[in-house]
Amino acid sequence: MVSDLKRQITQTVKRYWGFDALRPLQAEAIQAACERRDSLVVLPTGGGKSLCYQVPPVLLGRTDVVVSPLVSLMKDQVDALLACGYPAAALHSGMSPDDRREVESGLAAKRYALVFAAPERLVTPGFLRLLDQCNVQAFAIDEAHCISHWGHDFRPEYRELAVLKERFPQAAVHAYTATATARVRADIVQQLRLTNPTVLVGRFDRPNLVYRVIPRVDKQQQVREILTRHKGEAVIIYCISRRDTEALAGYLQEHKIKAQAYHAGMAPDLRRCTQDAFAEERIDVVVATVAFGMGIDRSNVRCVIHAAMPKSIEHYQQETGRAGRDGLEAECVLLYSAADAMRWESLIRRSAEESEQPEEVIVAGQQLLEQMRGYCSRLECRHRFLSEHFEQPYEKPDCGACDVCLNEVEGVADATETARKILSCVARVQERFGAMHVVDVLLAAKTESVFAYGHDKLSTYGLMKGTPKKALTNMVFQLVDQGLLIRTEDDRPTLRLNDASWAVLRGQRPVRLIKPKAEPVVSSGIEKDAWEGVDRGLFEHLRGVRRELAQERSVPAFVIFSDATLRELARSRPTTESQMRRVRGVGERKLADLGPRFLGEVASYTREHPSTGGRAR
Ligand code: ADP
Ligand code: ZN
Repeated sequence: MVSDLKRQITQTVKRYWGFDALRPLQAEAIQAACERRDSLVVLPTGGGKSLCYQVPPVLLGRTDVVVSPLVSLMKDQVDALLACGYPAAALHSGMSPDDRREVESGLAAKRYALVFAAPERLVTPGFLRLLDQCNVQAFAIDEAHCISHWGHDFRPEYRELAVLKERFPQAAVHAYTATATARVRADIVQQLRLTNPTVLVGRFDRPNLVYRVIPRVDKQQQVREILTRHKGEAVIIYCISRRDTEALAGYLQEHKIKAQAYHAGMAPDLRRCTQDAFAEERIDVVVATVAFGMGIDRSNVRCVIHAAMPKSIEHYQQETGRAGRDGLEAECVLLYSAADAMRWESLIRRSAEESEQPEEVIVAGQQLLEQMRGYCSRLECRHRFLSEHFEQPYEKPDCGACDVCLNEVEGVADATETARKILSCVARVQERFGAMHVVDVLLAAKTESVFAYGHDKLSTYGLMKGTPKKALTNMVFQLVDQGLLIRTEDDRPTLRLNDASWAVLRGQRPVRLIKPKAEPVVSSGIEKDAWEGVDRGLFEHLRGVRRELAQERSVPAFVIFSDATLRELARSRPTTESQMRRVRGVGERKLADLGPRFLGEVASYTREHPSTGGRAR
């Protein structure tokens, strides 16, 4: 019986989505939903949560309801399902009365396997009555952490979902989230009144992501350098403030990069417009604040750049989680300066004071910052650090997918000497000046304040002349980060020496400083594997075809085919329908709908590029 269900699940997944295998815990989650046992499923972003609630109703011929927080997310999902020949619809406030009636009558006639609804719509009396009529047996709550105060994305309307269990005692409720903390998990179970739920928690490590933390010495230049590795690919750049996003997007546009800013201060239509352009692959780079997040369904984001340190590891995990959701390699680069932590610190303090929050809030914020700072400044395997942060042991001794394990961290050659020069300059200015002034003195800058204090007469004046200013500033902050130098926490922070500084000055303590690696970054093994045997020219060609089709049909590009599918087409170069059917991501509907077009494109490309040969499987 059980193995029979497993077989049916596999067949369904192949038929509609063209996937040959399930990802970890998908089978268990689908089984729980088929058997109508309440469940809480925690999988990282990109783990494949949607499939878990999409398979059961279509397999068992019932209608399930999915609660989803954003209309844009619902629309994209419905488009993607319809493209697979899967009967689905959404009910939301933006619909015309006619469309709504159409969906409502379809629901009553059991025409859909899934109906998506926003929480506030779901709990209206009319909708609840409709659900009574069609005997709904299961609810899936997507982004279930929105129900919890403790989550990072609380939505009060989710609280109303507690009525589901009262109103439909016979129905099962399945909660899905990527948020890992135990507190949020317990809150979800309690708020949704789940009874004896199956709890499935996936592995949080994302092996296909390559993590890098690079000292930030010149943000704009470094961002551009990273972008040259991702020409024509989707990239998200996160900044701390709205102003930062606009400045950086402007700079990139000046350099002919199709970038756009995105933040909560923009008009909603403008935001939607940017989001659509990104989904339809009309722009590649979005420079955003944390506001850009949920609702980004583009699965082929190849790079996430943090232009500054985020304020918690949870934020970092979530934001980097948007890279490589298709399972292919992706890069996450964090441009780090210890000054970021200090900036956050004062932002947290200010916002807590403005909204009169208790001291605990500030303390909690500082703890999160401290963890994040640890991630950036400790030269340990990044995969291991993140896994262990989420309380999951990391088995591999070497991940092969972070700057530390790839041996990319480059030390400054005469770090101890450099540190002593910086520290002695701090001593010479009598520990009464900030980092900028100390840097100015070391570089022999001719500023008013240098002359006013007679600092051009100091023995340390010009001691580091020729060092790029931003690089030197970064090294000053590295010393602060390592506790070898103190920076006061007041309105005009000054640099002070401590015992550790004196130990360095007396030559009793060596110092390690790092700098951005000069040579281009080598590609990781993960990246090589993902491109193994792929004809890149053909892949680019097929992407062009996909973009055209997406625009023609006004759907996001991933609704046509994912990057993973395009790469496999460009690897196996199928010549017949039965060969194409074997490609991951080609289900029956898509084979009928898109097969002839893509087979034709593969054939004509192969004819025009005979040197690469018409290799079939
Ligand atoms: P989540 O909601 O957990 O972030 P999604 O449900 O959006 O993840 O899935 C991420 C991507 O992985 C999607 O492009 C989806 O089509 C793909 N996917 C899901 N399950 C599988 C599978 N078993 N095999 C291959 N690809 C899958
Ligand atoms: Zn590593």
